[in-house]
Amino acid sequence: MQRECKRCLLLESAEGDMLQLIKEKIEKLSPEERASQDVYEQRLSVCKDCEQLISGMCLKCGCYVEFRAAFKDKRCPDSKGGRWKV
Ligand code: SF4
Repeated sequence: MQRECKRCLLLESAEGDMLQLIKEKIEKLSPEERASQDVYEQRLSVCKDCEQLISGMCLKCGCYVEFRAAFKDKRCPDSKGGRWKV
């Protein structure tokens, strides 16, 4: 049985297949849809310090944050206004 990994990204967990799938999906995003690499990394850095992150998944929305953060127009779903924005 795989253990939950609090405050880990998929990148740091054993869920490599899902990470590979997400990377492939991100590669298919158009430049208009995709956040810059700087924004992406900044968002993931915030997620890594968030108590809502479990094994790469945000408990607020059920998304894998490494996928959600790749979209230029997505926001953090935290009800207090989001921890990262567009
Ligand atoms: S609530 Fe926001 S900062 Fe926290 S894991 Fe979800 S997307 Fe990331």
